[in-house]
Amino acid sequence: MLESALGLLSCDLAIDLGTANTLVYATGRGLVVDEPSVVAMTKGPTGVVGRVLAVGAEAKRMVGRTPGNIVAVRPLKDGVIADFEVTEAMLRYFMEQAVGRRTLKHPKVVVCIPYRITEVEKRAVQESARSAGAREVLLVPEPLAAAIGAGLPVTEPIGSMIVDIGGGTTEVAVISIGGIATTTSLRVAGDAMDEAIISYVRRRYNVLIGERTAEQIKLTIGCAAPPPERMSLVVKGRDLSSGSPRQIELTGEDTAEALQDAVAQIVEAVRSTLERTPPELGADIIDQGIVLAGGGALLRHLDDVLREATGLPVVLAEDPLRCVVMGAGECLERPELLKRVAL
Ligand code: ADP
Ligand code: MG
Repeated sequence: MLESALGLLSCDLAIDLGTANTLVYATGRGLVVDEPSVVAMTKGPTGVVGRVLAVGAEAKRMVGRTPGNIVAVRPLKDGVIADFEVTEAMLRYFMEQAVGRRTLKHPKVVVCIPYRITEVEKRAVQESARSAGAREVLLVPEPLAAAIGAGLPVTEPIGSMIVDIGGGTTEVAVISIGGIATTTSLRVAGDAMDEAIISYVRRRYNVLIGERTAEQIKLTIGCAAPPPERMSLVVKGRDLSSGSPRQIELTGEDTAEALQDAVAQIVEAVRSTLERTPPELGADIIDQGIVLAGGGALLRHLDDVLREATGLPVVLAEDPLRCVVMGAGECLERPELLKRVAL
């Protein structure tokens, strides 16, 4: 009786600690947290961050709108922890949200990490999960988790290519027999696309827009190539000549032009990874296709551009934003799989 009651009160967690979003999967319950990796904090007179005001979606709404005494921080940069204390505060908040405050047992936690992370960075992830309440922390490379979540045969001797386009980085990996055969990591992904839109709008229309507006433009009308259909969006920014707020209308073509360089770099990363892939594994990719994951994979026509550039089939993972956490969750539920892919 007591055993099963304790069982109900404890659960293990899989965490996708992303530069843009943090997702948490709990055993037996599935996805329980899906929030932006943003923390809003008060700033002391010396600039030292103090009290946590908001975490996740609520904190993201404050980005670019904070008064002088508040900062909205993204504690991860390029897939790794840039601010240890803030990451820990954020993890603690999300883990509490996932298991509840009154849990009797500390959870075992699987955290997904970029493949090329250093030993110091690995320890930072482990320590922050431990001090946020984890009993045991296991690390799984993100490309493997993404591939498992996308339903690829990762443990078989079959080559699979996964392209994960997140906030800070694009990770291209060819996987076979539970390991990574070839990989390329690029610091061009969703954030770089937002920045490219900001600089395009400034150059072309002499209007300054904020980060949140740029992301909204990308989500609503962003295209990797000039679209066949007409799309437009009216956005507000600050006219750099008059200094006053001004409205402009942007089109899908505008975004394609703005994103041209970022898209070309992603295409090049895929090409160069294919070039370094052993021929047998490359042959498997012809059959299976290149699988796109991460939020950036949702950019309109990106799959078409990659298909044309590589001559290979390109498919989107069923749920690009969630496949890393769902893959890590599957590892938690299947110990034999976890043993094969954990570092
Ligand atoms: P990370 O793993 O780094 O946290 P995610 O995989 O969660 O990143 O993806 C977040 C990125 O995906 C953000 O830059 C976001 O703007 C972008 N994104 C989400 N949806 C779309 C979309 N429909 N089109 C283009 N980009 C998108
Ligand atoms: Mg990610």
